[in-house]
Amino acid sequence: MNINIPEYVTEVLKRLHDGGFEAYVVGGCVRDSILGLAPDDWDVCTEAEPDEMKDCFIGLRSVDTGIQHGTVTAISQGKPVEVTTYRIDGTYSDGRHPDDVTFTRSLKEDLARRDFTINAMAYDPEKGLIDPFSGREDLKQHLIRCVGEPEKRFSEDALRILRALRFSSKLGFEIEEETAGAVREMAEMVRKVARERVGIEFTKLVMGTGVSEVLPDYRTELQKCGIFPMADDPVLQRIRELPEKLTERLSVVFPEKLRKALRDLRLDHQTIGSCEQIQEALRETVSCDNTELRLQMMRWGRQAVSDMLDIRKVYPEKGKSAQDAEEAGQELQNILKSGQAWNLKQLAVTGRDFIDAGIPQGRQIGALLQKLLVMVIEGKLENQKDILKDEAHVLFCRENL
Ligand code: ATP
Ligand code: MG
Repeated sequence: MNINIPEYVTEVLKRLHDGGFEAYVVGGCVRDSILGLAPDDWDVCTEAEPDEMKDCFIGLRSVDTGIQHGTVTAISQGKPVEVTTYRIDGTYSDGRHPDDVTFTRSLKEDLARRDFTINAMAYDPEKGLIDPFSGREDLKQHLIRCVGEPEKRFSEDALRILRALRFSSKLGFEIEEETAGAVREMAEMVRKVARERVGIEFTKLVMGTGVSEVLPDYRTELQKCGIFPMADDPVLQRIRELPEKLTERLSVVFPEKLRKALRDLRLDHQTIGSCEQIQEALRETVSCDNTELRLQMMRWGRQAVSDMLDIRKVYPEKGKSAQDAEEAGQELQNILKSGQAWNLKQLAVTGRDFIDAGIPQGRQIGALLQKLLVMVIEGKLENQKDILKDEAHVLFCRENL
């Protein structure tokens, strides 16, 4: 077994080794490397305690990320590497946070506190793969299996229940039988977990390759975790065909009560807003008519319309086909390329022009611009300053009579 560790991480390992300490890359990066995937980040575990680590890191910048839990972030060649002392988590009286953590000099004890066998492997180029819980075998078998007894591990930290679903989705793996049994029995406990942590795991679940299996298979359990109401099974079973875009996927997963569902997951305002726009756009009929499409873009924004068309390629509306959505998408691209106006900023006039011409500032100007834009889109006016200004005066006078 040979893992290709990037230079900046090797540097951190080397410093710890030179200080006389064991140090390994561990967790997700080992799992992903064995699978041939590019790891998101590289975590290091070591027998060195924080003070000892810091002696090894002299000359490197380091940040005390969670020093009481043994975590220091070393900045190596400009990139962060999280380094954590081997530790045993204490009892979990709240099912969320260990009451205390104890440092240990045993790698095996550190691996034993980790959630799943595939996440409980460590690797050092000299010593090779350390895999006391047969994570590599489970990787081969495509199985998510708890380290130790699932009931015990889930009562220590209920977030692991949702993490099991998240990794099942991310990797497209089955959940091993006993672990799956405990997920089903204990799902309710996830309600005790901080909602933002639930939100983080759920968004990763939604982006996973196994999402189309996990969502319908674990609908009841997700509901018990407070994640609902989700779309019907036939809809969920096709989620995977959507692009890997969180907002598109969420808009389909939660066809009703979207805002509440997303707020309960503590998603940010921007994501929630985008999803709502997409759902509004989904009420429109797919059209490759230039005028109609530009009006839709004016109403919901370019992004929401383009996301809506992505969704309609997988879930065509009644009487339309995926091909219709495809063609509308191409027309949308043409509109963008040709620079035809569809939003107020593209008009050849601005509110300023009207204020200067004596039309009183305020809401009226906004409404006026909106009318002009519609007329431009409908081909009734040319997008030229003088023409628009003249028309504005006509409209203004008519409305103020
Ligand atoms: P990803 O690549 O998606 O981030 P990851 O495996 O790195 O996956 P993290 O949430 O970043 O997942 O956690 C890093 C490692 O810490 C895990 O691989 C696992 O060994 C351990 N871990 C994280 N959360 C828990 C938990 N709740 N209980 C036990 N071990 C955990
Ligand atoms: Mg990670």
